[in-house]
Amino acid sequence: MSLTALIEAWDGVATIASYDRPTGTWIFICLHDTTLGPCTGGTRMKVYPAPEDGLLDAMRLAEGMTHKWASIDQNFGGGKAVLAIPRALEGAEREGLLRRYARRLDALAGGFWTGEDLGTTTADFRVLAEETRWVHGFDPDSGEKLDPSPYTAQGVFRGIEAALERVFGSASAAGRTVLIEGAGNVGGRLGDLLAGGGAELLVTDLDPERARALAQRHGARVVPLETACETACDVYSPCAVGATINPATSSRLACRIVAGSANNQLSVPEQAEVLRDRGILYVPDYVINSGGALSFALLSQGVAPGEPLLGEMDRVGRIVGEILDEAAEAGEGPLEAARRRVERKLANGKNSRPARQ
Ligand code: NAD
Repeated sequence: MSLTALIEAWDGVATIASYDRPTGTWIFICLHDTTLGPCTGGTRMKVYPAPEDGLLDAMRLAEGMTHKWASIDQNFGGGKAVLAIPRALEGAEREGLLRRYARRLDALAGGFWTGEDLGTTTADFRVLAEETRWVHGFDPDSGEKLDPSPYTAQGVFRGIEAALERVFGSASAAGRTVLIEGAGNVGGRLGDLLAGGGAELLVTDLDPERARALAQRHGARVVPLETACETACDVYSPCAVGATINPATSSRLACRIVAGSANNQLSVPEQAEVLRDRGILYVPDYVINSGGALSFALLSQGVAPGEPLLGEMDRVGRIVGEILDEAAEAGEGPLEAARRRVERKLANGKNSRPARQ
């Protein structure tokens, strides 16, 4: 599809496209829905095959953010930005792009708030913050940029406990076997939390060193990536890349629960039904991995980073539990229950708007 065809077909509120001539970067800022509040979402920096692929990514991700904010009861709208770079950018070239991008953000005057996403770093955000205030995730006292990963991991941990309670009758991870796929920023911390709760860990990662490092910390077993999906466990926790639940893997999974931080875990939504038919409880990814987004929202509402903010991640467990209970009561999958929760929140948001003068 061409850029114009994509813009014509999208049902979001605005598509802002511009071109950064010095670096040859297409900048897409997609604002999906403002029912609940100002559009807020990450800035992704990536080389795409064509600008159209970057725009499509931004549109899909912006819609995903609308769902994420609504599912966790936060009054933000869905938005996402993509910097579709022609090649990896470093040094002064990268900084120049970031500063020019920041001025575009500034021109929107709060219409879009942004934070880190794939390809952008804490250091990038320090540069953006010198040019614009419409960036989030900064400690209001120290001015330091916060890493969302510990909060995401804490939220996933609480979400896993909620799922364990529904499947096994106890929220305790003690004695449960959890396979973590992706021992990175989130997966590594999640492993620490689970091991601390008495779980038996299995670890796999594309990078064997990372898997070994996490396994060694807790006397866990490393599982080869090729056979990970058919390894018997209570919980399979995808914390690496998307689409690991696909037609080649979903029939081989040997777990009772799928619950992890990775975005877009299902290759297509219908894979949720395959899991359900096999008696595997799938915890919707955009809800259980919402801890990072939630932490930034709460930070802007005055909750202090560190222990107070980590404590607030209990909310993720509560919301996951509510969604799982609603699904069980309605005799449907958690994905449908999460979608209805989002629709309800958006409908209430529309109804609570003041009438037009
Ligand atoms: P990370 O880059 O720190 O870790 C990812 C890990 O996965 C790395 O150890 C990497 O070697 C491994 N990996 C990469 N490709 C793999 C593959 N094909 N198979 C197995 N392992 C592979 O990333 P992260 O910040 O820990 O995020 C993990 C996932 O959670 C990502 O999908 C991310 O989008 C999602 N997520 C992260 C956050 C956050 O706060 N960091 C928030 C929401 C969602």
